[in-house]
Amino acid sequence: MNPYWSRRLADVEPYVPGEQPKEGQYIKLNTNENPYPPSPKALAAIAAAAGEGLRLYPAPECGGLCRAIADFYGLTPEEVFVGNGSDEVLAMAFLAFFSPEDRIAFPAVSYSFYPVYARLFDIPYDAVELREDFTLDPSVFRKEHRGIVFANPNAPTGIALPLEEVEQILRAHRDVPVIVDEAYVDFGADSAVGLIGEYPNLLVIQTFSKSRSLAGLRVGFALGQPHMIAALDTVKNSFNSYTLDRLAQAGAAAAMEDQEYFEATRQKIIATRTWSAEALEKLGFTVLPSKTNFLFASHPEASAAALFGALRQRHILVRYFNKPIVDQFLRITVGTDEEMKALLCALEEILGR
Ligand SMILES: *Cc1c(COP(=O)(O)O)cnc(C)c1O
Repeated sequence: MNPYWSRRLADVEPYVPGEQPKEGQYIKLNTNENPYPPSPKALAAIAAAAGEGLRLYPAPECGGLCRAIADFYGLTPEEVFVGNGSDEVLAMAFLAFFSPEDRIAFPAVSYSFYPVYARLFDIPYDAVELREDFTLDPSVFRKEHRGIVFANPNAPTGIALPLEEVEQILRAHRDVPVIVDEAYVDFGADSAVGLIGEYPNLLVIQTFSKSRSLAGLRVGFALGQPHMIAALDTVKNSFNSYTLDRLAQAGAAAAMEDQEYFEATRQKIIATRTWSAEALEKLGFTVLPSKTNFLFASHPEASAAALFGALRQRHILVRYFNKPIVDQFLRITVGTDEEMKALLCALEEILGR
């Protein structure tokens, strides 16, 4: 341990994001970005905001963006919190709702940022097992857990938990905060947003990075009752009052308002996912049922590590996790129809079909 480093860093193993190649032509199916460009209205709003106004600080309360998100969901702006990507919103939520005295729980196979935040903030946790088929058993969360986090749909499996089971968790743990990370919910799962009125312990977190094609703008948000949002505001205003710049606030608000574009692009991705999953199955892959913009697939005759390497040689990037339980799977982002055809051609060649 470096003598100058804070002791806080002793047990931290930072999250490793997927590769962003700097050169070369790659088909990029490794970080769940949207293959379609952002809404033209979002791009126009960003261009309009890129003017002399940048001399001034942005609105710290992000009122226009909170209003746009609230309108989309039929909530009030007091039920909305925005941040610099949902990763930041999640980190602030860990600080706002979990304590070093209280054990929290999240699934062992899930978003790998959860254990990173827990360690960084010294929050004890149980990584609870999924069922054999990678579904989440709502009863794995127990009374001693003083906080619960799970992604729905889950990553990297792509499997969605039915809304009744989300509610079962909320009902069984009314006295503890329950964070539902809905980064992929727009690709076919049921959101828990409609349960906010009934459950004061619920915080839903979403992002503009996936279904709204704005990973590069860094905007995420949380939805919950005003007392939950107030906790997040308290953390934010004790850390950085200006997490979202003027361009991000303008672009994200315009993207939220362009419902037609959002609908069209997410339906295209769902359609591409459907035929791609069938084509992978024809090649012998086992593909988990996905409600996301990625497919989690394994092949009985080829190791995932070898497939990952062979695809990379052909300039196709997918994600491979060298970790127990999931190391026989590839996580493949759903790209355009053309990108998925290229992937399938490459896999046919690699598997010798
Ligand atoms: C992508 C992702 C996020 C974070 O996305 P941001 O780009 O930081 O908004 C959060 N949770 C899960 C499960 C994700 O896959």
